[in-house]
Amino acid sequence: MTDPIILGTVALDSLETPFGKVKDVIGGSATYASIAASFFSKPGILSIVGKDFPKQNIKLLNEKGVNTQGIATGNKTFRWQGYYEFDMNEAKTIRTELNSLESYKVEIPEDYKNAKYIFLANIDPELQLDVIKTIKKPELIVMDTMNFWIEHKKEQLLKTIDKADLLILNDSEARQLFDTPNLVKAANAALKLHTHAVIIKKGEHGALLFTDNKHFNAPGYPLENIKDPTGCGDSFGGALTGYLAKTQDISEANLRKAVVYGSIIASFNAEDFSVERLKSVNKSDIEKRYKEFKAMREF
Ligand code: AMP
Repeated sequence: MTDPIILGTVALDSLETPFGKVKDVIGGSATYASIAASFFSKPGILSIVGKDFPKQNIKLLNEKGVNTQGIATGNKTFRWQGYYEFDMNEAKTIRTELNSLESYKVEIPEDYKNAKYIFLANIDPELQLDVIKTIKKPELIVMDTMNFWIEHKKEQLLKTIDKADLLILNDSEARQLFDTPNLVKAANAALKLHTHAVIIKKGEHGALLFTDNKHFNAPGYPLENIKDPTGCGDSFGGALTGYLAKTQDISEANLRKAVVYGSIIASFNAEDFSVERLKSVNKSDIEKRYKEFKAMREF
């Protein structure tokens, strides 16, 4: 059964890091998130591409076990262009072309209708809200966002957050959205909304999980070989939701494990451009890194 459903962008990215440059490669929040989720469960994407989107990219998603029935076809694919300097925790956007996303109306395929886990990856918060309204009450709604939507649609974004169960943000977005330099204050402000849990990602330094009365701090994997961090946040959220859908357990203890699996898949993703590294990761690579994470936390 298709579960989780992942709403987000399927994109053509052009970007440069200190380690190289790529043009019109497959990217987008739903792309990274669904491949990351596919290591644990059978995700389905909700998104739109254009006629210019290469068919082999859809084939690649299908080979990874991703259901692409929910990818509509419009005129032109969403495009993102950006670069990173030596501090690779922050992507600098040169251009965002929404293209077919501007007129996208979400339509949920029959196959997706019984999914219990929803990941609203980074996309227009109005589309995120449409999905929440359309789908039967799921077990868990996880949502992510980014500075672009905080700057352009803050009011709509706060309305969507109010309907989500688990909010994922990176540290600078949390400060920006809740207007405070202090991450604990930002997390508490989010918890005052409907949200049951908040995860604040700190790039290569790991992630913080806040629930009503508990706090968990997952380290980042000490990677020596980082080429391109694009999609790490999406891979984190996708793997986390995929793991929760597989285990059907949203207790705080299992959320901690989901955060660790999210960090592991994100760490693999950074090792190469686009989805190149995620294409070849296998279950034993993941379990090996899981054991290393466990050892790293012991003292
Ligand atoms: P991340 O590095 O996890 O924040 O995600 C990077 C991916 O998000 C890239 O592949 C882009 O195509 C996509 N992206 C960039 N800007 C946006 C946006 N405003 N909304 C949705 N997706 C975006």
